[in-house]
Amino acid sequence: MVPTRPPPAVARRASATSRASVKALASGDAARAPLTALGGVGEKVAEKLAARGLLTLQDLWFYLPRQYEDRTRVAPIRGLVPGLAAQIEGRVEAVERGFRYRPMLRVALGDDSGATIVLRFFHFRSQQVAQFAPGTRVRAYGTPRPGQYGLEIVHPSYRVLSDHDDAGLSDRLDPIYPAIEGVGPAVLRKLIDQALQRLPDEAALELLPAATMANETLCQGLPSLREALLTLHRPPQHSDLTALQAGKHPAQRRLAMEELLAHHLSLRRQRIAVQSQAAPALTGARLAKRLEAALPFALTAAQRRVFAEIRGDLAKPVPMLRLVQGDVGSGKTVVAALAALAAIEQGKQAALMAPTELLAEQHLNNVRAWLEPLGVRVAWLAGKVTGRARRDALAEVADGSAQFVVGTHALMQEGVIFKDLALAIVDEQHRFGVHQRLALRDKGQAGGGVPHQLVMTATPIPRTLAMAAYADLDVSAIDELPPGRTPVQTVVLSAERRPELIERIRAACAEGRQTYWVCTLIDESDEVVAQAAQTTFEQLSVALPELRVGFVHGRMKPAQKQTTMRAFKDAEIDLLVATTVIEVGVDVPNASLMVVENAERLGLAQLHQLRGRVGRGSAASNCVLLYQPPLSQMARQRLATMRETNDGFVIAEKDLELRGPGELLGTRQTGLAAFRIAELVRDAALLPTVQRLGEALLRETPEAAERITERWIGGAARYASA
Ligand code: ADP
Ligand code: MG
Repeated sequence: MVPTRPPPAVARRASATSRASVKALASGDAARAPLTALGGVGEKVAEKLAARGLLTLQDLWFYLPRQYEDRTRVAPIRGLVPGLAAQIEGRVEAVERGFRYRPMLRVALGDDSGATIVLRFFHFRSQQVAQFAPGTRVRAYGTPRPGQYGLEIVHPSYRVLSDHDDAGLSDRLDPIYPAIEGVGPAVLRKLIDQALQRLPDEAALELLPAATMANETLCQGLPSLREALLTLHRPPQHSDLTALQAGKHPAQRRLAMEELLAHHLSLRRQRIAVQSQAAPALTGARLAKRLEAALPFALTAAQRRVFAEIRGDLAKPVPMLRLVQGDVGSGKTVVAALAALAAIEQGKQAALMAPTELLAEQHLNNVRAWLEPLGVRVAWLAGKVTGRARRDALAEVADGSAQFVVGTHALMQEGVIFKDLALAIVDEQHRFGVHQRLALRDKGQAGGGVPHQLVMTATPIPRTLAMAAYADLDVSAIDELPPGRTPVQTVVLSAERRPELIERIRAACAEGRQTYWVCTLIDESDEVVAQAAQTTFEQLSVALPELRVGFVHGRMKPAQKQTTMRAFKDAEIDLLVATTVIEVGVDVPNASLMVVENAERLGLAQLHQLRGRVGRGSAASNCVLLYQPPLSQMARQRLATMRETNDGFVIAEKDLELRGPGELLGTRQTGLAAFRIAELVRDAALLPTVQRLGEALLRETPEAAERITERWIGGAARYASA
């Protein structure tokens, strides 16, 4: 969504703010007042805060606790529940200081409930030991866990109380803020207290369109912004802590709504900014017609519809911003090639960027086969293209003789200068960050206008999410597979039945079918995965001596990988043992059996991608998901989903339900990680409302729209639209 912000921009904003601040204060606008206006904030502290993007009072208002601690009451030790944090109070019954493996301090604390708990410290000073004389009254807070001698709390926060000390209890939950280097939690809390005292009244703070809110079901019962902020920073004693911890408190909902709105508006603004620039109108249709006629297949209706949508965009003198979603195997590449021809026909250049070398090479081969017969010159740029070949390619890209440039991230490097890039195509968008997509777009600016942008993804995204994640893009869907594909049959098997499976592979390959055997390990380095796969490769080679067994993994040299893949494609390999490097885009239509080992370790999106490697030809295909028992509840649901459906959209919805959108969209979707309070999955239901609020704002009070973006995204929004 919104690019996270590099430090120089923060600095730029800092100086702009201090100049603006004098005026802001004079006009009584507390929101923009600099933090140095607060007691206790000198240059040094201000710098530390600025490093976290905190520059104004408003920034502090929106710096929200990440959790809460309930010290409003004292819990009896007897009633403690493992895993649930609580405050306790008791007297020291015994102290033990040990040195066996490392220094350790154990303090047994008992209370009137007649139970005892152990406070355990690994780091402590001698004074602390002296503090805990038997009989001493101690109040502690922490999370009890089962230990060697019953429940224990490791490193509780605690306070020693004297006998006549009737230390009152807090009447608010304690907020725990995300730590800021160089500013201690107590100081930060005091600063936020001060900032909250200057919170303006409701009318001055509220920016959401009241009339629209009144008509929105999901807005009913939500507190005002002022009330929501006060509640979240300083929740009253009897606040619903469970709701707060789960992020479902109405106060959080109120803020999440506004934050989602801020991001939505910022994407809309970005889009407007891009589209206020000029792009070349590409209207040529002659070359595309020739390619279509030369293809060995007819386009599906969905491909034709999506291409028509793209053509409509390209014909306008405004940059296209379009996302093409299409399930694995739906045929996105040929649509991209057709689009590229519109640019090429007009003497301009198109570029296609893919996230892996394997995938980029596959595109290169396809594109060459399709376009070279039409006399189009295709260039290739990837990390492995070096020396002379690279210099030649760069020269062709720069002088325009290369009409279509295919490659990896290498396309975005500094030395790559296009003569006249009119269309930038990015495949498998979810693997790239927003930055990278924009970087490729920027390659066009040397040649005049802004290039059209086409983004393709095989990870279908539920509609609601697409709205949030891609509010700056128009979305097209290739929602149909080419004819003649039989749906893949999926079975789920326990790893104990591996011998049976090996027989099945023997039989399948005897019939001329080809098989993938995918090895997976989670959270392991490439090297460990490669080793495990190597072992499987050796075992299968021994078990199936009559088959030609190949092996491909991520740590291989690209050339080696390519050779093996080619051999598999040319049916010189019957059984290909692979790591998940084959996940994205690899296309071998004759492969019709896939085994995924340890399938329980993979997420739905990844399983779906992998399974998409088979069922690409006309033969009936099978996918065997091998699992290592016992299965977790979650894994069981995932495997059942895979067995029940081949529909990428259904799988995506299920995935969204089971996991977070961060994973769904790829962790590199920087903007998604940058939410302060909203969470896309949890708050997905708010999105349609957010969209309507956005429309109302832009229509009725565009200046409020701007202030909301600034409030939540601050300088980042300014940076993005600059
Ligand atoms: P993806 O959408 O997963 O990127 P590809 O573009 O790799 O899919 O296409 C998958 C395979 O289907 C390729 O071999 C491609 O040539 C072929 N293909 C594309 N469109 C059609 C079609 N309309 N009819 C038959 N085969 C097609
Ligand atoms: Mg593809």
